[in-house]
Amino acid sequence: MTENDIHPEDQTGRDDHVDQGSTQDQAEPMGPVVPRDCPSCGSPSADCRVEVRSKVDLAIDSGDVIDEYWGGFRRDDFFFDYVRCGSCGLLYNAEYLRHDLIAHAYSDMEDNTSGVPQHLLRKTQSRYVAAMEKFAPMDGVYLEIGPDIGLAAKLAVERGSISKLVLVEPNRTTHDTLRLLAPGIDTVVLDSIDEVEPGIQVDRLFLVHVLDHLTNPRDDLIGLRKRMAAGGILAVVVHNEASFLRRVLGRKWPPFRLQHPQLFSRRTLTTLIESSDFKVLKVRSTFNTFSVRHLLATGLSMLGLEPRWLSRVPELALTVPLGNIVAVAEAV
Ligand SMILES: [Zn+2]
Repeated sequence: MTENDIHPEDQTGRDDHVDQGSTQDQAEPMGPVVPRDCPSCGSPSADCRVEVRSKVDLAIDSGDVIDEYWGGFRRDDFFFDYVRCGSCGLLYNAEYLRHDLIAHAYSDMEDNTSGVPQHLLRKTQSRYVAAMEKFAPMDGVYLEIGPDIGLAAKLAVERGSISKLVLVEPNRTTHDTLRLLAPGIDTVVLDSIDEVEPGIQVDRLFLVHVLDHLTNPRDDLIGLRKRMAAGGILAVVVHNEASFLRRVLGRKWPPFRLQHPQLFSRRTLTTLIESSDFKVLKVRSTFNTFSVRHLLATGLSMLGLEPRWLSRVPELALTVPLGNIVAVAEAV
């Protein structure tokens, strides 16, 4: 979708407020919210029914509002309504933020790990690496989108024979950490997927909680597939919108949030991956290792509470199924 495709008068619902205050006499102004069709199969969103409605109705008229709702969890969280694609079954936002607003929000975040001790995060990440190792050892060129502080990449280097690391992280605050991750291994740190050199032959590709954040996941996946060697292996981790936890919590399920323009199930994830020239080898549930204190803090902040006694809760590890799934696929 290009900017020229967007006309404010096509937009419906709560985005009837386009940029106020800026000069917008000549060119048609583009609002902060733009319509989108199914990002997996391209079917039009027009006839899709809303399945998950936001907890609050919010006027998005500037980037400031987005900053407020972008990170963290709160009781009255804003997200765009989710519709169900009538063709491929994907659950997605039929309207989402303008590209530059998203880029700004991601460039300016704390790392995603705040509050969880690093040795526990490593346990979670090592399950993703192990899921791929069931099919292939960690060797060759490793590419990861959104590595955060690089825990999975470091594990891959330690456990296999990686020849090169390419790490694409829009959040620049972690770039220094990523550059120093594996001394002695050729390491390239980039801001965006578009910067990955077209001629590269990637052997191991990791997308951990990435596909549910991308505005055009299929386009990006096809672009990444073109940079892979035949037989290269892909691991994808996403939230599972068909999980037990989601059914129990309804729209209070935490992954319903502004950062996720679509959410997958085993079926819709498989459909998207296989439509991009991969063969899915396995999809299964995966577990997260958390501290008890962090889980409590997240739960309580969703209720709008931040009690003082929280700091006295011991740092116990807890391994829980949070409704995440990992898919391993081969480039064909
Ligand atoms: Zn679809």
